[in-house]
Amino acid sequence: MFYHSTRSTLSPVDSAQAVLEGLAPDGGLYMPERLPAFDWQACLKGTSQEMSAAIVSAFLPDIPHMPQLVRRAYTGKFETEDLTPAVPVGAYHVLELFRGPTSAFKDVALSMLPQLLTAAKTVKGVSDDILILTATSGDTGKAALEGFRDVDGVRICVFYPDGGVSQVQRAQMVTQEGRNVTVCAVKGNFDDAQTGVKNIFAACQGRDLPFRLSSANSINIGRLAPQIMYYFRAYRDLLDRGVISLGDQVNFSVPTGNFGDILAGYLAKLLGLPVGRLICASNANNVLTDFIRTGVYDRRRPLLKTTSPSMDILVSSNLERLLYLLSGDTELVSGLMARLKTEGWYAVPEDLLTAIQDRFWAAYCDDARAGQIIGRVYRDLGYLCDPHTAAGWAATEDYVNQTGDGRPMVVLSTASPYKFPAAVLSAIGGDVSGDEFTQMERLRDMTGVPIPRNLADLRGKAERHTGVIEKEQMLSFVLGL
Ligand SMILES: *Cc1c(COP(=O)(O)O)cnc(C)c1O
Repeated sequence: MFYHSTRSTLSPVDSAQAVLEGLAPDGGLYMPERLPAFDWQACLKGTSQEMSAAIVSAFLPDIPHMPQLVRRAYTGKFETEDLTPAVPVGAYHVLELFRGPTSAFKDVALSMLPQLLTAAKTVKGVSDDILILTATSGDTGKAALEGFRDVDGVRICVFYPDGGVSQVQRAQMVTQEGRNVTVCAVKGNFDDAQTGVKNIFAACQGRDLPFRLSSANSINIGRLAPQIMYYFRAYRDLLDRGVISLGDQVNFSVPTGNFGDILAGYLAKLLGLPVGRLICASNANNVLTDFIRTGVYDRRRPLLKTTSPSMDILVSSNLERLLYLLSGDTELVSGLMARLKTEGWYAVPEDLLTAIQDRFWAAYCDDARAGQIIGRVYRDLGYLCDPHTAAGWAATEDYVNQTGDGRPMVVLSTASPYKFPAAVLSAIGGDVSGDEFTQMERLRDMTGVPIPRNLADLRGKAERHTGVIEKEQMLSFVLGL
């Protein structure tokens, strides 16, 4: 199967090459020339690992031994062999994506990506080291570091915005062990860090370097494909519970940042899974809400700091893939992306907007409302959720109130509440004094919900990566690695 850029159909590459490169040379994102034929009903019968192997090999047919790679990626690393259980909470179902090694949903993809990359290296006969370069708004960094640590032939360098991640997220990253890992703070926000990484890719193009660059951000198709599984998992859980019959549609509400997670939901739908509406949930950085409602994408606004920092994003990379999927027009996409870069905004044609609105719905929720929801869901339903999940819950309530759509609803839960203890504590009326580690313990004492092991163990660990650089220094930092 061949992949080409969202911005041009020229120079197609096979799926192993697309995984190796991450970003296409013209700055676009790799997409398959056509979607694979797929037996979604057969897929639903498997275990989570079998589902994953079937889906990922459909997208990456040039990478062999997929069941083995999946086993290596997941076995024994998640709290449950289901990987991502869906639990009923009130009128909805919460799909818990945070039961992995770093308590973030990104573990699902980033446990798998190292396996895919090293296998792709073998397929393509590449012997150079690969340097994974990643910008993180908090969760990607740690999940990538953990996934890639001590993987032979791969090094990883993570940049995070100085002061732009939570204390726990910072502690998770700066204490990272492993002989092939580098972590560095950048003065600026997440978009600065992400733009810096994109610029490094551009600057290194064609240079003779001792390594090949690749990315662990959701711009890599090898990161996106493993995320499709949990939509199947949730569907299967609802089937097993008798909530739906085979073929019934299910809606999903997805706390969204870079649009990777929700795009995986759309890919699940394209594979045949009966996905109804996909609800795009944002925080006060509501650029996607505006876009899905009006067709105008406008990043010319301040980036706000919220209690859901993994969604504090103004340029949502994977949206480009959706524009391509729905228009099939690389020239259109290329023009829109050029305009976003130079003018800071673009508007999509009317028919494209209609196609988006047929499939997606969007809402956002500010910090105050997220706090109210965390409090109410805990008090009334006995379920403790984090601020990202609360945004998904809020969007679900808005959607159901405004449309009356009665199809079963799954809210994707993207982080453990213990990753954001201050926001969660204050939402349920707890005392927020002390550092985040003290807050975690207080939250556990109040609620009885266990602290995930990887977070409980953080406190005593040594800080190994304490550097802070200007965003202009990112390129020289990488060249000096
Ligand atoms: C990354 C992240 C998101 C956003 O996911 P995208 O795929 O970037 O849309 C939401 N919540 C949490 C906790 C995350 O870490």
